[in-house]
Amino acid sequence: FCAETKTFHSLRPAIPLPPPSLPLSFPVFALSLLPYPLPSHPALIDAATSVSVSFPTFFSRVNSLASALHAHAGLSRSDVAFILSHATLDIPILYFALLSLGITISPANPAATASELSRLVRLTNPSIAFAVSSTVSKLPSNLPTLLLDSPTFSSFLEADAIFPSPFPAIKQSDVAAIQFSSGTTGHMKAVALTHRNFIAMTAGFHALQAGQAGPDVTLLSAPMFHSLGFFFVLRTVALGDTLLVMDRVTFPDMMRAVEKYGVTQMTAAPPVVLAMARSEDVMQHDISALKRIFCGGAPLSEDAAERFSTRFPGISICQAYGSTEAGGISRMIYAEECGQQRSVGRLSENLEAKIVDPLTGEFLSIGQQGELWIRSPAVMKGYVGDEEANVKTFDCQGWLKTGDLCYIDQNGYIYIVDRLKELIKYKAYQVPPAELEQILQTSPEIVDAAVIPYPQEEVGQIPMAFVVRQPGSKISEVEVMDYVAKKVAPYKKIRKVSFVNSIPKSAAGKILRKELATYAIGFCSES
Ligand code: AMP
Repeated sequence: FCAETKTFHSLRPAIPLPPPSLPLSFPVFALSLLPYPLPSHPALIDAATSVSVSFPTFFSRVNSLASALHAHAGLSRSDVAFILSHATLDIPILYFALLSLGITISPANPAATASELSRLVRLTNPSIAFAVSSTVSKLPSNLPTLLLDSPTFSSFLEADAIFPSPFPAIKQSDVAAIQFSSGTTGHMKAVALTHRNFIAMTAGFHALQAGQAGPDVTLLSAPMFHSLGFFFVLRTVALGDTLLVMDRVTFPDMMRAVEKYGVTQMTAAPPVVLAMARSEDVMQHDISALKRIFCGGAPLSEDAAERFSTRFPGISICQAYGSTEAGGISRMIYAEECGQQRSVGRLSENLEAKIVDPLTGEFLSIGQQGELWIRSPAVMKGYVGDEEANVKTFDCQGWLKTGDLCYIDQNGYIYIVDRLKELIKYKAYQVPPAELEQILQTSPEIVDAAVIPYPQEEVGQIPMAFVVRQPGSKISEVEVMDYVAKKVAPYKKIRKVSFVNSIPKSAAGKILRKELATYAIGFCSES
């Protein structure tokens, strides 16, 4: 902690990164970390079928696919590829092939509706989409699309690699991925993340794992389109670990897979940790190989963490905090940090933070609560085509405003106290209230509406709507929920409704969400 500037630095020494001007794509960086010859254990295993892909096969398919995409689909550097698929063994191969060609990957949630997707496609302006038979009909028909479950795609995986290699020189500052986040307010925005962002995030894990005995078997329960799952795909290959791929993960399947494949670490949203702490089923499985769980995406309650640790004293919960825009901010795979259940750990290496009073803009000190601002090589390049959001999100010195209310204690531990931003996290999925409010306002029965997060232990938060009906309208709670449910992906559904006479707003017309949240707690405890 540096008292003069009130900037917090990581307590750990900086991790050296390649010089920023060095041309380097993420796949080439990954290959530089891996031993030669490549490891013989599987790079990927499909948990449902036990089919596996070794590291040599993985990289040979990456080469074949990149060559074929370059030659047949005419893809080249700076094109954007939109991806709409559930998790399969081919997705990591596709990610590496596209990154090798300098093509920007934009993965979206396959549960999204056609109208949600058309907005995301407009934001990212892709030249090609990769979909599967079950998702392709939701994409705009004028977007050239290659089916991942087609014979053409299978032949691309086995195609002869072209020599000289089609891989262009890629700058670390090139955009590797466009992911989606509503940030601190409003609708989903396109978050541009560079090759350097992923190199920086991976380098941290690589430094940590140095000297570790043997590779980890990592179960990825986070979806591969989400920022955490996307990063874990890249990171797990680069570190030479085995990635256990699961699609539509149910809790019993997950526990069976942990036992069957000797999973040593897994990603999990808080509801999974809670289920493990409570479920009797878990005790039927031998999960003794499991050493750690990376829990993130939303807050894990102290009670859930304690219950879990009492039940599984040998498994560390590494509560991590991060965001699509900022990458991983804190990490708790250091033994001394894993026992700190209320904290999300200390600042990662190469990262600076400030705690800023959200009302006065004053920089705060140890123990004082304010908005967390951060600066690091993992922070996004910016929102694509949204200068207004960029100006709001970054200060003039490049500090990213996270929209989270935090404090840092005298030992450097970070505590997330609340969310200042307008965001609901349902099972760690982002639900932007503005999106649901706009849909509600399209109903002829509704005059005004506001949507806020309502706490529910099993899932974190559910979207709750406050609705002002048109005079004479008799629209019911269920009808309001159905109206929205038809237009959004299932995880965004409104799950609670309250009818009110007016929506409280500030003089500037901003919805007073805290006031509604206080009212909601009273309303729900009475009803
Ligand atoms: P996303 O961009 O979907 O990863 O969402 C990032 C946001 O999720 C953060 O800004 C926080 O509000 C919340 N979040 C992520 N991890 C945690 C955590 N461990 N504890 C509390 N909130 C978290």
